[in-house]
Amino acid sequence: MKIIMLGAPGAGKGTQAIMIAERYGIPHISTGDIFRANIKAETELGKKAKVYMDQGLLVPDELTTDLVVSRIQQSDCEKGFILDGFPRTIPQAECLTRAMAGLNDRIDYALNIDVKDESIVNRMSGRRACLNCGATYHVANMPPKQAGICDHCGGSLVIRDDDRPETVAKRLSVYHAQTQPLIGYYEEMGILMNIDGSKPLNEVFEAVTKLLEA
Ligand code: AMP
Repeated sequence: MKIIMLGAPGAGKGTQAIMIAERYGIPHISTGDIFRANIKAETELGKKAKVYMDQGLLVPDELTTDLVVSRIQQSDCEKGFILDGFPRTIPQAECLTRAMAGLNDRIDYALNIDVKDESIVNRMSGRRACLNCGATYHVANMPPKQAGICDHCGGSLVIRDDDRPETVAKRLSVYHAQTQPLIGYYEEMGILMNIDGSKPLNEVFEAVTKLLEA
């Protein structure tokens, strides 16, 4: 099962992607996580990506696409994978389609988690991330057991630089300009599935699994 997740930043696609990956036993590949791990490790890629991420901008396609195309060719991706946060531009999507065709393969589903901008701004203001392992929480909807502390590793929870209100506004406008056109792209390919992301997390997940298992 080869899946890509579409949706605005903060629509909950990361959380759904992790749940889908667990249920179907496929790797969860998040370009945001890959960049954040590189920033933490202070790699050259991390240094370059941080400049764009902190401003709410997309990391250039040339730093992103090769990374994903080589990742999906690793052996753990043979039975499937879920891409979370990639593609985010039409050129990235075209590259992915070409790379998959070169492997005699194709993406099975593009799941679009649909949430209105107003709800996204509200959600993002409550989002907290672990400085150490990157796990994300929400102060109201998905709180950690102990406020400010990560359930998984005990690390401190903070507001990510790219979740600050001014950066969220920028990320949303970048989403509408550069990523939203992918909905039409995958609709034309006949693999788009729209999911109402405004519902509680478990209901969204139920809707997702129903579609995938139909
Ligand atoms: P995310 O965790 O998916 O919201 O990604 C966080 C940030 O990483 C984004 O705001 C972008 O700056 C960068 N990023 C992640 N994935 C991509 C991508 N496919 N193309 C360009 N930039 C990306």
